[in-house]
Amino acid sequence: MKNEYMLSVLETVKKRNPGEPEFIQAVTEVFETLEPVIEKRPDLVKAGVLERLVEPDRQIIFRVPWVDDNGKVQVNRGYRIQYNDAIGPYKGGIRLHPSVYMGIIKFLGFEQIFKNSLTTLPMGGAKGGSDFDPKGKSDNEVMRFCQSFMSELYKHIGKDIDVPAGDIGTGAREIGYMFGMYKKLTGEWSGILTGKGIPYGGSLARTQATGYGLCYFTDEMLKANGKSFEGATVLVSGSGNVAIYACEKATALGAKVVAMSDSNGYIHDPDGIDLDAVKQLKEVERKRIKEYVTTHPNATYTEGCSGIWTIPCDIALPCATQNEISKESAEALAKNGCYAVSEGANMPSTPEAIEVYFANGILYGPAKAANAGGVATSGLEMSQNSLRLSWTFEEVDEKLHGIMKNIFAACDSASKEYGMPGNYMAGANIAGFLKVAEAMKAQGCV
Ligand code: NDP
Repeated sequence: MKNEYMLSVLETVKKRNPGEPEFIQAVTEVFETLEPVIEKRPDLVKAGVLERLVEPDRQIIFRVPWVDDNGKVQVNRGYRIQYNDAIGPYKGGIRLHPSVYMGIIKFLGFEQIFKNSLTTLPMGGAKGGSDFDPKGKSDNEVMRFCQSFMSELYKHIGKDIDVPAGDIGTGAREIGYMFGMYKKLTGEWSGILTGKGIPYGGSLARTQATGYGLCYFTDEMLKANGKSFEGATVLVSGSGNVAIYACEKATALGAKVVAMSDSNGYIHDPDGIDLDAVKQLKEVERKRIKEYVTTHPNATYTEGCSGIWTIPCDIALPCATQNEISKESAEALAKNGCYAVSEGANMPSTPEAIEVYFANGILYGPAKAANAGGVATSGLEMSQNSLRLSWTFEEVDEKLHGIMKNIFAACDSASKEYGMPGNYMAGANIAGFLKVAEAMKAQGCV
């Protein structure tokens, strides 16, 4: 990046946010691709759009005390960052994982602004979470934590203000407990969370949406480049919500998924992953992925996560967590003939890995476009709640499919308009940014 104005804004971001490398990484990646836009648009510079965009509207940090099953008080830290509401109420998930701190929530919230803009739905960017780890906790402990978390969060959210959702560690169970507590505290039934259970305002196809949406986006990207899922060998990292439904849809589109993982290690099944077995392990029994090999003798289990990327494949779908594909992993993918990487997780590729993709002509579907299907369907859940209607699975899935096709078209056309055809990362950043920037400029200096 050479633009002096942008460099000086980035410098300020680094000074103001010390010790937050993920956030700096996310801002740097976006800035690098926005350079041609900023050079063409002095009006956006004058309106201070970049300076305002990198500074969240507000950052809320709070204590979350809860009592464990032994009667001992535990204390976690809760976060909600309301980043930008230029195009709609704040919207973004809640991450429950021991690695959560301000820098993670800030990077996710920043990315969410552009992702939500790309969906074409009226949603601003936000993110929240806690360093609480639901793994190994009883249902009652998880419930007490969620109730305590909501007893502060409820003061800051509302159906036209901020609508949180799930993310790592926050599934239907956690959303249910938080929703119940919100209702009790406010005496109001309203669609203040998405990812709710179907009997109480959830949307059909929300569970599948991020994984399915990832495959719809990837399918468009492959087709635009003369490729297809049909007959392709696919790696999917993770075995959580996004990974499971990415595996399901990729298989339905004719691919063979041969590997999945969790934070301990990965399984390789050359016969193709038996997804029913993975669902049983992960969704029902909450067990480790290594248990898979006890019932599938042709499959192997290997400790450690990064080895998954050394398995030969055509397409890689990282669906676990940030920075899970390093430069070395990207090089292994390239060496073994991988021709497309499409991101279900948020920021799973390091900047060095992305350089390797471009240097080797690997098609690259960036997270903020490729995994936008989850939040898009959360937007559809909000619409159904407001309308007091429930659409069928097929209706929601069809809308999701249309949205993902449009997101790919927007990325493709912005990349071409700004002289970087095939660079869907630049296309996603530019298309997502311009809508928010126009809205911010129109609304004045607020
Ligand atoms: P889940 O909690 O359902 O699953 C996460 C999966 O990733 C688990 O298999 C987990 O393994 C694994 N994992 C977590 N941390 C690591 C790590 N450090 N190394 C390797 N594997 C790890 O989360 P989701 O599927 O919902 O989210 C996955 C990613 O997708 C995240 O980046 C999230 O932000 C993103 N995303 C999710 C959306 C959604 O709708 N759910 C929407 C858009 C993006 P283990 O069980 O061992 O922890």
